[in-house]
Amino acid sequence: MSALHFGTRTLPYGVVSPSGGRPRVGVAVDDVVLDLAHLFGPSSEFAAASLNPFMAAGPARWAEVRDAVRARVDQGVESGQAGVHAAGAVSVLMPFEVADFVDFFSGIEHATNAGRILRPDEEEPLKPNYRRLPVGYHGRAGTVVPSDVDVVRPAGQIRQGDEVIEAPTRRLDVEVELGYVVGVPSEHGRPVPSDRFHDHVFGVVLLLDWSARDIQAWEYQPLGPFLGKSFATSISSWVVPLDAVDGAWVDGPQQEPAVLDYLRVDEPRNPSIWLELELEGHVVSRPVAGSLYWSPAQQMAHMTRNGASLRTGDLYGTGTISSFEVEGQGSLLELSWGGSREFSLGGGAVRSFLEDGDRVVLRGWIGGDRSRPMGEIAARIRPAL
Ligand code: MN
Repeated sequence: MSALHFGTRTLPYGVVSPSGGRPRVGVAVDDVVLDLAHLFGPSSEFAAASLNPFMAAGPARWAEVRDAVRARVDQGVESGQAGVHAAGAVSVLMPFEVADFVDFFSGIEHATNAGRILRPDEEEPLKPNYRRLPVGYHGRAGTVVPSDVDVVRPAGQIRQGDEVIEAPTRRLDVEVELGYVVGVPSEHGRPVPSDRFHDHVFGVVLLLDWSARDIQAWEYQPLGPFLGKSFATSISSWVVPLDAVDGAWVDGPQQEPAVLDYLRVDEPRNPSIWLELELEGHVVSRPVAGSLYWSPAQQMAHMTRNGASLRTGDLYGTGTISSFEVEGQGSLLELSWGGSREFSLGGGAVRSFLEDGDRVVLRGWIGGDRSRPMGEIAARIRPAL
């Protein structure tokens, strides 16, 4: 793979395979990968093809390892040293085994924009439950893929006037999100309070929620998203531990009406992650994650309020991170206002939805600080089969 450009502050975890070697856990430092199976030994939890054993170990182990990694990085990490791989000399693999995948709808700007686009006749764009609970749905864990995996245009049932046809989607969209990754499982039957967030959640990734709007529009009532979403979800290949977003947490919008007790949080709710969505080499949007209405701690508390358990490798998406300003809108549904207008890619090219061959890239920076990158997702759209 090519350059990583991670600097020395984020120190994210991933799974790499050196040429001819077995997969192992590594940390991205600048443009090299520090091999934790070398640093901690071949019998450690890092001699594994996923982060799951390390993520399950819990906060004390996470802190101990991060201290050891920092100490090693402070000594200087360079390609050619034992246990250090050049980025170009490794394959970067899926970082963890996804257990369950849930996607929320916690961007109030996106929910409002989508309500106005899809239900223009209704006065109130938000449903009555929106400010009461973090709305979400269960997605498909088995089709979560890392960066650099192409997305094949899905086909399915589409309503066309009075007809229903089987055809490739004509409204292929993507939603800009963050995804939170669970490390420590919880007991089935026992809700997890919002203040236990840091005891269970290991880290955060960038997430692209691919969406076929025409398939979704026909199928979603009354049970919610299904095949219009389940064909693919992309995540960044490097998992950023929550430690790395320290100091970047901000208060979201005021929650009114007051939330029920189990959804109360005392601390600032969301990390301020500045994002950049690029399409065919042109930045089309710059959403910022700090304004999400529901926080990851509230989402976790809600997801387990009925006694559903957390499992190591659970992934939950924030929902589309968006804005009322076009510069920060995190889906093509919004940028094209339901397909009613085209937006520019520069050089005369325009889009409403994604075309075959399009290359989509999402990048992010913690607190907007270019020395604290979140990594990236890159994916290309392939024609329908
Ligand atoms: Mn989504």
